[in-house]
Amino acid sequence: MKIKAQYAMVLNLDKCIGCHTCSIPCKNVWTNRQGAEYMWFNNVECKPGIGYPKKWENQQIHRGGWTLKGGRLRLTAGGQVHKGLNIFHNPDLPVIDAYYEPWDYDYGHLINSPQRKHQPAIRPHSQLTGEHMAVKWGPNWEDDLAGLTETGPGDANFKNLDIQTYMQFRNVFMFWLPRLCEHCLNPACVASCPSGALYKRDEDGIVLVDQERCRGWRYCVSGCPYKKVYFNWKTGRAEKCIFCYPRIEAGTTTLCAHSCVGRIRYVGILLYDADRIAQAAAAPRDRDVYPAHLDILLDPEDPDVQRAAATQGIAPNMMAAARRSPVDMLIRQWHLALPLHPEFRTLPMVWYVPPLSPISSQVDDPAATGELIDRMRIPVTYLANLLTAGDEAPVRLALRRLAAMRQYMRTQRVEQRTDTQVLDAVGLDTATVEKIYRLLALGGLAERFVLPTAPVLDKTLHARQGGCGFGDAL
Ligand code: SF4
Ligand code: SF4
Repeated sequence: MKIKAQYAMVLNLDKCIGCHTCSIPCKNVWTNRQGAEYMWFNNVECKPGIGYPKKWENQQIHRGGWTLKGGRLRLTAGGQVHKGLNIFHNPDLPVIDAYYEPWDYDYGHLINSPQRKHQPAIRPHSQLTGEHMAVKWGPNWEDDLAGLTETGPGDANFKNLDIQTYMQFRNVFMFWLPRLCEHCLNPACVASCPSGALYKRDEDGIVLVDQERCRGWRYCVSGCPYKKVYFNWKTGRAEKCIFCYPRIEAGTTTLCAHSCVGRIRYVGILLYDADRIAQAAAAPRDRDVYPAHLDILLDPEDPDVQRAAATQGIAPNMMAAARRSPVDMLIRQWHLALPLHPEFRTLPMVWYVPPLSPISSQVDDPAATGELIDRMRIPVTYLANLLTAGDEAPVRLALRRLAAMRQYMRTQRVEQRTDTQVLDAVGLDTATVEKIYRLLALGGLAERFVLPTAPVLDKTLHARQGGCGFGDAL
């Protein structure tokens, strides 16, 4: 057993309001530069939709990630030898139009225009060429299901579903999917780089690009199945989400998590057995990858794990944070959070709590819980295609547990009685469900973000750090 500790994030899709607040500080701090205009290290996609870049989930087109060939794990687009022989020709690279051509407006024209009969107007111009352009696509083009009937059929998650049914107004459904680099355990971007410029930090698992070593071959861009490495046309180097490591090292969470208005994000430590990564990533069937991934995560309360961690140099503050980790609870202990497209076999470390959808008024009927999940507006099959390679059982368990928690809490608060039957049906006890409720509904900064550094004791600094304006307690 080779113990490693890594930062991970969980996003509760049940609470994302699609406000894009998370994307803005990330953009302002990390990619507000020439050459990076089109980059969104964090973006929020509206589902159903084809996303950013277009159809990123369809690996028939993009050929990112890993595939099993003859029982062995291979980069879908070919290994290093193949890349070496074709280094000047990468047919799998997304073109700029798949993201969008970044544009701006000449606002000075509005401000400095002389008095005239009609209000002055401004035309968009390309930030790449400077020429006037017609805006035809953008990173949030599909927000609020805009153009669903045109782009919806291109959404890979409709596999095994009748798309036309969900194009009808009465059946339509919608939720948001915020996305960032997954800081994978088996990162295809790192394996794809001919220069060895991408690396995974040994101490905390954050995946970074060494700007000195990058030669701009862009195989990381096509190799990443989540399309979360970008090419900076100005510097000629690759760039990606850095999990706000300068903030993380200072004991503050990532900008996207800290600014999240819906308070849907959780950041903490996961322990895993690095010796079994290859085995998990090469699980025989796509739907076996999620359980195999779960299986290599280690219990920080296990005395064997604690002993091994001490001898293998895992820092005591990392272990202490792992024992209080909200992501460990949501992922490993409660099975509420699930990985995004585990079939890409990169073993992602940003996981998602699937969203319940509108029939919550009927949650009162315990006998109908299973059926209820099927009556929810978002089809379970769609969520399973998104989160568990089509295996519906883990999605059903997570949704039933969330629904049971709501019903239990509602019975307790409204009717002042304790209904444990509903919990028994989903394998939860009262102590656990109270913890889940606390974390998902009320969790303050110190519960949602458990970072392995000394706590911020200076109250003035804490208040200044934000908490979305909700004050110190949140
Ligand atoms: S999601 Fe991040 S770590 Fe994973 S392959 Fe893509 S760029 Fe690399
Ligand atoms: S800030 Fe939070 S709630 Fe708003 S879009 Fe981002 S993840 Fe969703």
